[in-house]
Amino acid sequence: MPPTSWTRADLAALDTADELASFRNEFRLPADLIYLDGNSLGPLPAQAAARVAQVVEQQWGEGLIRSWNSAGWIDWPVTLGAKIAQLIGAAPGSTRVADSTSVNLFKLLAGALALRPGRPVILTEAGNFPTDLYIAQGLAALLDRGHRVVQAAPDEITARLDDSVAVLLLTHVNYRTGRLHDMQALTQQAHAAGALVIWDLAHSAGAMPLDLDGCDADFAIGCGYKFLNGGPGAPAFLMVAPRHADSFTPGLTGWFGHAAPFAFEAEFRPAKGADRALVGTPGIIGMAALECGLDVALAADLHEVRAKSLRMSSILMDLVDQLCPGHFGLLTPKDETLRGSQVSLTHDAAYPIMQALIARGVIGDVRQPNILRFGLTPLYLRFTDLWDAAVILADIMHNATWQRPEFQTRQKVI
Ligand SMILES: *Cc1c(COP(=O)(O)O)cnc(C)c1O
Repeated sequence: MPPTSWTRADLAALDTADELASFRNEFRLPADLIYLDGNSLGPLPAQAAARVAQVVEQQWGEGLIRSWNSAGWIDWPVTLGAKIAQLIGAAPGSTRVADSTSVNLFKLLAGALALRPGRPVILTEAGNFPTDLYIAQGLAALLDRGHRVVQAAPDEITARLDDSVAVLLLTHVNYRTGRLHDMQALTQQAHAAGALVIWDLAHSAGAMPLDLDGCDADFAIGCGYKFLNGGPGAPAFLMVAPRHADSFTPGLTGWFGHAAPFAFEAEFRPAKGADRALVGTPGIIGMAALECGLDVALAADLHEVRAKSLRMSSILMDLVDQLCPGHFGLLTPKDETLRGSQVSLTHDAAYPIMQALIARGVIGDVRQPNILRFGLTPLYLRFTDLWDAAVILADIMHNATWQRPEFQTRQKVI
């Protein structure tokens, strides 16, 4: 049983026993900073700066255009995709690194809708990440074939699945609440209704073991810069289940998705498999940084990562109760089977409280209207970081330092 009241020494003991502790050395983290925002932008992998410099100075600077072949640049969407496939339990050959999450969603959703003609509904979760909603809405309008986006509360998704639904579009872990969907059950239910499923793995890839193939998922997309630590605006990924790959046409058909890009033919002919979901020239420098993040994640056992993440989120919830009683609401499920890798608290003064925390070296973020979000990233966080962050939070609440004028001004990015 966990203690009813934690001490810093309890948490130091957990750090000493932590099998993942050495992974912290794989990242470059500023001293005296507790980084609880790796679910939004992961930190710099220790190898990334040198690797990017090598790609820039040698492969680009010296190799120039020869590096598409000699450094293998042309294959990186596939080779990095294979690394991601391992991390998300996708079938070999199903996954590519390309474009952004938003763009990949557009491509796959358009392709999936075409596989389910006559079904007008794109079913998604109310409160899904806005870009997912906007891309779906924009695509429905562009297609002009009567598609509509239906948003259902998380507990009502199953009941809403019927033969009008073409595609179930879900984000595995909700960005606001941190609530986790049952991928296996929902995929099965969607298939039973004749619908296809697109999973957005923005908040789960790299954070927990996934089994896309075992769940029979049709399509997936996800971010490179969150739990995969690929750097700001890192290339994203997409997964097309092999059973759909040769019958599906992505919503954007570019030359990198052509069967023979360097034949320069006048008509589009899709490449075999998931390659057809590629569009144009990949950003090589960004891919080099992303690969460093992927290599760190691949070296870790994601089951251990998940166990530590749940332990951390439970402890953080305990510490908020223990050190800041009565101050915050809790949005993240207490039930571990429903919890992703973050803790979301609510408070009407979420924004200035977070600014006060950041000023004290504890970085999380806020989401509208009143949410303080703390990402738990087991590869570089220590249990004692949670204690230290909670002590600072308690101090800010007890002394009401968040009320100072300098914490009230809103920045462009929150
Ligand atoms: C972070 C996030 C995105 C980001 O999309 P970009 O195209 O990289 O800006 C998309 N979907 C979800 C669910 C996210 O959490």
